[in-house]
Formats: sequence, structure tokens, C-alpha cells
Amino acid sequence: FLEEDISIPDYTETQLLSEAYNRMLKRLRVLEDSRQEFVSNVSHELKTPITSMKVLADSLISQDDVPVELYKEFMTDIGEEIDRENKIINDLLSLVKLDKKAADLHIEDKNINELLDQIIKRLKPIADKKKVELVMENFKPVVAQVDETKLSLALSNLVENAIKYNKDEGWVHVSLNVDHKYFYVKVEDSGIGIPEESQEHIFERFYRVDKSHSREIGGTGLGLAITRSAVLMHRGAIKVYSKLGEGTTFTVRIPLIHAE
Ligand code: ADP
Repeated sequence: FLEEDISIPDYTETQLLSEAYNRMLKRLRVLEDSRQEFVSNVSHELKTPITSMKVLADSLISQDDVPVELYKEFMTDIGEEIDRENKIINDLLSLVKLDKKAADLHIEDKNINELLDQIIKRLKPIADKKKVELVMENFKPVVAQVDETKLSLALSNLVENAIKYNKDEGWVHVSLNVDHKYFYVKVEDSGIGIPEESQEHIFERFYRVDKSHSREIGGTGLGLAITRSAVLMHRGAIKVYSKLGEGTTFTVRIPLIHAE
């Protein structure tokens, strides 16, 4: 009886170990698949502007007397492709920095009203150009422990998207609220909206609802992945509510006090 008593836990332990081992293998496989997918996406995204530039350059070289106007047009297109390549590389670098450990956070007491004011000021010219009304409502003063650079990047992406994916003469409302534990930033727009089936994918790297539209307006598909990483590093949460053709609301919730 005593022998049996000992042999049962032994058997169970082996079984448990092998189950844990299988679970770990499965997780490693998922990680490896997503790493491979990321590398293949990055290569594809970086190759696209280069292919366009090559076609434009070859076409100029193959003609003997290129009219000045055509030459200028092609060189402008090449310049735009270079800007695009630059944006992808910068976004990738931001993402890589955010993927590092949370220890890289530089947490300080920050006035969130001021942080939002700076974002609005910086993005106002883009909104004006599109005749989008950009309104800020932050009546209650909020001070919280955050990494200013990373949080600023996260929130800028949301406001920039709200302008980019808006209709001409639409509006964007940014508001700040607070309770005893968290502060909440809400970015609401009157834009094109996000189809329901896409809403769970928009935070994935390189995911775009409409690839050509995003490309046209200078998107890389990395903005929301960057935002999500930065929010999670602050132990916060982000959610989206959207109705196609009517508009989108993103809400970010961040703890006032950063727990190590
Ligand atoms: P992008 O660089 O393409 O803007 P993001 O990661 O910032 O990439 O966003 C992913 C996709 O989510 C966008 O391509 C767009 O289709 C959709 N999206 C993001 N924000 C909004 C918004 N406010 N309104 C409508 N669509 C949006």
C-alpha cells in the first residue's frame, strides 16, 4: 500500500512534466512562426518602395531626351518612395525599442494635460490641411507616472489616425478623464470607421483595413502595434469602438501610479 502511495505521485509528476514540455514546445513554435511572419512582412514592406524606385529610375534612364516636366515628376515620385522607406524604418525602430524589456521605461511624474496639448499643437497643421476640426477637452488636471516619450508616441498615433482616416471637414475630439486609480484618454473621430471583422486585427503589425488607402496617406501599418506596446508597458489597456461610415473611438486607460 505504501509502495503504491509513492508510485502514484511519481507517475503523475512525469506526466505533468511531459505536458509542461509539450506546452512549452507549442509556445516556442507559435513564437517562431510569428517571428518568421514578421521577417517576411518587413522584407516585403521594405522591398515595395525600392521596387517602385527602380522602375521609375529605369524608365528615366531608358529615354534619351526626357522632358524636364516628366523628369521632375518621376524624381518627385522617387522622393516620395524614399520618404516612405524612411517612415517604415523609423516605425520599425520604435517598435524594436518598445519590444525591449519594461526596464527601459523612464518613468517620471508628468502633467498629462500638457503632454496632450503638445500632441494637439504638433498635429494641428495636419488637421487644418484636411479641414478636420481638432478639439481638446481636458478640464481636470492629471499628473501621472509615465514614460513621456513612449506615451506621447502612443497617443500621437491615435490622434494622427483619427485625422488621417477622417472625412474632409470632419472632427476629432480628444478628452482626458481621471478616477482614483487611472487616467483615460479618449480619441473620438467622425471618420470612415473600421469594419467589425477588422477590429480585432488592427493592433497587429502591418495590418491595414485597406492597404492601398493606407499607403496613399503614408501609413505603414505599424502605428497601432506601437501604440499597443507602449500602453501595455505602462500596464494600461486600450480598446476600440467603431461603426463603419460613422467614426471610431479609441480609449486608453493608464494607471496613475506605475507599479514596477
Ligand atoms: P497605418 O500606418 O496604416 O495607419 P495603423 O497600425 O496605425 O497603420 O492602423 C492600422 C489600420 O487600422 C489602418 O491601416 C486603418 O485601416 C485602421 N485605422 C486605424 N485607426 C483608424 C481610425 N481612426 N479610423 C479608421 N480606421 C483606422
